[in-house]
Amino acid sequence: MSYVENVMELVVKRNPAEPEFHQAVKEVLDTLGPVLQRHPKYEKNRILERLVEPERVIMFRVPWFDDRGNIQINRGFRIEFNSAIGPYKGGLRFHPTVYLGILKFLAFEQILKNSLTTLPMGGGKGGSDFDPKGKSDNEVMRFCQSFMTELCRHIGADTDVPAGDIGVGGREIGYLFGQYKRIRNEFTGVLTGKGLNWGGSLIRPEATGYGTTYFAEEMLKTRGDSIKGKVCTVSGSGNVAQYTVEKINQLGGKCVSLSDSNGTIYDPAGISPEKLAYVMDLKNVRRGRIREYAEKFKGVEYKEGMRPWGIKCDCAFPSATQNEINGEDARTLVKNGCILVAEGANMPTDPDGVEVFLSKKILYGPGKAANAGGVACSGLEMSQNAQHTTWTREEVDRRLHDIMIAIHKNVSDTAKEYGDPTNYVMGANIAGFVKVADAMLDQGLV
Ligand code: NDP
Repeated sequence: MSYVENVMELVVKRNPAEPEFHQAVKEVLDTLGPVLQRHPKYEKNRILERLVEPERVIMFRVPWFDDRGNIQINRGFRIEFNSAIGPYKGGLRFHPTVYLGILKFLAFEQILKNSLTTLPMGGGKGGSDFDPKGKSDNEVMRFCQSFMTELCRHIGADTDVPAGDIGVGGREIGYLFGQYKRIRNEFTGVLTGKGLNWGGSLIRPEATGYGTTYFAEEMLKTRGDSIKGKVCTVSGSGNVAQYTVEKINQLGGKCVSLSDSNGTIYDPAGISPEKLAYVMDLKNVRRGRIREYAEKFKGVEYKEGMRPWGIKCDCAFPSATQNEINGEDARTLVKNGCILVAEGANMPTDPDGVEVFLSKKILYGPGKAANAGGVACSGLEMSQNAQHTTWTREEVDRRLHDIMIAIHKNVSDTAKEYGDPTNYVMGANIAGFVKVADAMLDQGLV
């Protein structure tokens, strides 16, 4: 058995019943062969075995009272996976499907993603199986306070800096920050995605969606093309999806779909800025369902229980959740003329789907590169907090754009260097890996 196969077997044995974690590790290990061969020092120092083992896993009880005075118990987690190149950094996810395997996959992805951003951030992720959907603001606040009462022992501006993810937006970050400040008696940049008048960065809410679109534009440029005039499908209707639509509109493309866990809307006329404003109010303020969009606007079809991948498009932006594109969806997309997939979500394409995109040689930007703008902007928020300063919207957007261009160049150059120029998956994995692995070697056996 090869070195990679041995490590993979170890991962499956040591982390039973965590298929998403196995999937994320396998996708990375499967592409590292050429770099491991070229640099035997990684195998000699057992870097892969060390990389797949989290530095620390924290798991805790989160008790809280609901509005009827009933006791509720959830489970909280923080995975502090790798701090070779900086403090642990990665979002918190509140969703009923959250368990150890999901958060370990996300934290593992985050190590390489953060490495690609050019900023000094290690990899982490956390969250809870708490479902914010249908809860009152007070219930969300009581949950967040209980969650932070334990989490605050483990995080800090130079130790571990969480942010948002699915189910954790501005409201949740506010409650979490308030409780941290109250217990620790310090006002520091311990979370990112904060409100603008208490330490947040301009463009942070927009960053993942904008960044993914900037990355897509860079991919298209390699073929002398651009977003302008492209018909785009977007899944999800949360933070990432909303700002992906906004940036695609600004660059002259047309988005024709959004979705949530109940279904998809198809709007052939395109989701204009006015319609997007409606979506933002629907999702961020009224916390309603995407179905209501089809009731509000004429000529819109609602596809209950469906994902957007059957809709004909030039470019697809999966921005909801993991494994939302399978092999069949991928084949349908390619058959319908899709030339680009840029992943706003983390691991939205399953291994069969990835295989289809790579073998058909479409422009396929994997999440750890394409959606790295979110965490990159979090890194910019940390810099501003550390310097007690704030940059203008234009300044942050310019830095974000430059970072996405740099990530694209690094990924694309690495793919070329290792002999498969169109393979952004390999390029992203090797480029992200080498920086972290070399830092681990420099720092000795820790
Ligand atoms: P939000 O909670 O704001 O939105 C998530 C959206 O995805 C909602 O429309 C939600 O629908 C839908 N969704 C969630 N789970 C499922 C599911 N199992 N099936 C179908 N639809 C689902 O989250 P974000 O926009 O922040 O995150 C979306 C993706 O982007 C995630 O994969 C996340 O890890 C990734 N990401 C986010 C970053 C960020 O900065 N926020 C940074 C990098 C990546 P519903 O309301 O019905 O649940």
